[in-house]
Amino acid sequence: MDSIKIANLLFPNTKYTVEEIEKRYKKRNLNDNQVVSRYAPSPTGYMHIGNFFQMFISYNLTRVTDGTFFLRVEDTDAKREKKDATQVIYDILDKFGIKPDEYQTLDGEDIGDYGPYVQSQRADIYAVYAKKLVEEGKAFPCFCKKTEGKEDVLKLREEKFAEDDEKEYDPCRDLSYEQVKANLDAGMPFAIRLKTKNDGTQRIKFFDLIKGEIEAKANAKDFIILKTDGIPPYAFAHAVDDTLMGTTIVVRGEEYISSVPAHIELFEALGFNLITYCHNPLICKIGDNGNRRKISKRYDPEADMRFYFEEGYPTTSVLEYLLNIINSGFENWRNANPDKPWTDFKFGVNDITTVAPIFDLVKLSDVSKNVVSKMTALEVYNHTLAWAEEYDAGFAEYLKTNKDYAVQVLNIDRETPKPRKDIYKWSMVKEYFDYMFDEPKTTELEEADKANFIEFISKYSENYKIEETKEEWFANVKAVAESLGYATDNKLYKANPEAYKGNTAKACEFVRLALTGRKNSPDLYEIMKILGNEKVNARFKAVLN
Ligand code: GLU
Repeated sequence: MDSIKIANLLFPNTKYTVEEIEKRYKKRNLNDNQVVSRYAPSPTGYMHIGNFFQMFISYNLTRVTDGTFFLRVEDTDAKREKKDATQVIYDILDKFGIKPDEYQTLDGEDIGDYGPYVQSQRADIYAVYAKKLVEEGKAFPCFCKKTEGKEDVLKLREEKFAEDDEKEYDPCRDLSYEQVKANLDAGMPFAIRLKTKNDGTQRIKFFDLIKGEIEAKANAKDFIILKTDGIPPYAFAHAVDDTLMGTTIVVRGEEYISSVPAHIELFEALGFNLITYCHNPLICKIGDNGNRRKISKRYDPEADMRFYFEEGYPTTSVLEYLLNIINSGFENWRNANPDKPWTDFKFGVNDITTVAPIFDLVKLSDVSKNVVSKMTALEVYNHTLAWAEEYDAGFAEYLKTNKDYAVQVLNIDRETPKPRKDIYKWSMVKEYFDYMFDEPKTTELEEADKANFIEFISKYSENYKIEETKEEWFANVKAVAESLGYATDNKLYKANPEAYKGNTAKACEFVRLALTGRKNSPDLYEIMKILGNEKVNARFKAVLN
C-alpha cells in the first residue's frame, strides 16, 4: 500500500512502536472517583489570572478525589516561548503552595511515570502516532511552502481554519508515493495533516462537564498535526499526551470548545477513547459600556499574576477568592468553618460555576481582610517584611531594625476573639500605620472642630498618665470631657445635642486626631501605650502649637 510506503519514507527512524509506547505508559490504577488532571501552561509570557484559574480548578478536582495532578509544560511554540517563563510558572505554583504530583524539575528530572512532562521532549512519541496515522491513510504529508518574505502560508491557512467551519481539504491530501518521494528527494520540508473523513455535512455530539451536551458540526478540515519541525500544534499533542498520561478530565477554558470537533476526530483516528472535558467559563470584568468582557492584561492589572505579588496580597487570600468565584458555596462554608484551612473545603465538578465569574477587587479585599485578621502579629510582620524586601527596601530595613516595636504595632486589635478586619495586602501596611512608624502625615481635623480640639487636647494632655489601665484611661478621657461640657451619657447627648460640645466619642476622636491625624484607627489606648509617654506628649505639644 502507498500509505505504508509513504509513512516509512517520512519516518524512517521512529524510535518506538505504538505497542512499546503503550506498554511504557501503563493505564493508571484508579478508583471510580479519582481524577487525574493537569495544568498544561505554555511558557509564552507572564501568567494570566485566567490561566491560573483553570489550573486551580483542575488542582481542586484532583485534590478532593485524592487523584493526581500533574504539570505538563507545553513549549511547542518555540517562536513565542519566553526564556524565563517556565521558571516563572514553577515559582508561582510554589508561592501558592501548589505542588503537582508529577512534573519535570527545572533540572530536567521527571518526577512521575508518565514523562517527559515537557512537550518539546516528546517529539519521538508524536512521530510514532503521526506515522501510524499516515500508515492508515488518516494523515498525509503536506509540502505547501512558507512563502519567503511574506506571511506564513501555513499559518494563514490554520487561522482561516479556526475562523469558519467549512470543509477544507488540503491540496496535498492525495499525493502518490512517487510524488512524495520526489518532494523528499528534492529536500522539501513537510508538515503532516490529518486527512479528515468528513465532508462538512456531519454533526457530532459530545458531553462537557460544565456545558452539558453539545452538538456541533464535525471537523472537516485537513489540519496540521505535525509542523515541519516535527513538533505538533496543540490539538495533536493534547490527544496524544492526555491519553498516554492518563488524564481523566481535561480542564481548560471555554475558548477551546470550538476546537473539540477537531480533537474528537483526532482521538477517533488515533483509536483513543474520548476524553472527558470540563470547559470552564472565562473570568470577566464589567466594561465601560456595562457589558461583560474577558479580563485582559491590557486593561486590567489584576489579570497578570504579578499584580498579586507586587501588591502583596496573601496567596491564601487569592486562592480563597478564586474558590469563591469557582463555587458560590465556598462563602457559606467559610462562614460556618471560620478556622479551617481552605484545603478542608470539598466540592465536585457539579459545584463549579457555569456562568462567567466577574472579577471584583473589592470582594478580593474583603476575603483577604478576613484571612489576614486570623494571622498572628508575627505572621503579619513576616509577610510584610518579605514583601518589603522585594518591593520597598527602606521599609524592610525599618521593620528589621524595629522588629519588636513593629510586631507590637501589628498586634493592635489582633490576636483577640474579634480581630479587626483591616489589612488586606502587605503593601498597605506602611501607610496604614504611618503614624506608628513615623510622625502622622495628614490630619483629618475639620476646621469647625479646631477650637474645641485645642481646648480638649490642652486639658487632656495635662491629665494623661501612661500607667493607666484601659478602664482608668477611658474614665480619664470621660472626666476631662465632662469637665469641658461634653456629654458622657450618649442618651442624654442624643436627646439634646445642642446642650453639649459633643460626646465621649467626639472626645476620643480628638485624642485620635492629635496622635494619628485620623478620625479612625485601631484601638486608641493600645496606640498610646505603644507610642509611649514621650511620643504622646510630643504629639500633643505639636498639635497645640
Ligand atoms: N497550553 C494550553 C494553554 O495554555 C493548554 C490548554 C489545556 O489545558 O489543554 O492554553
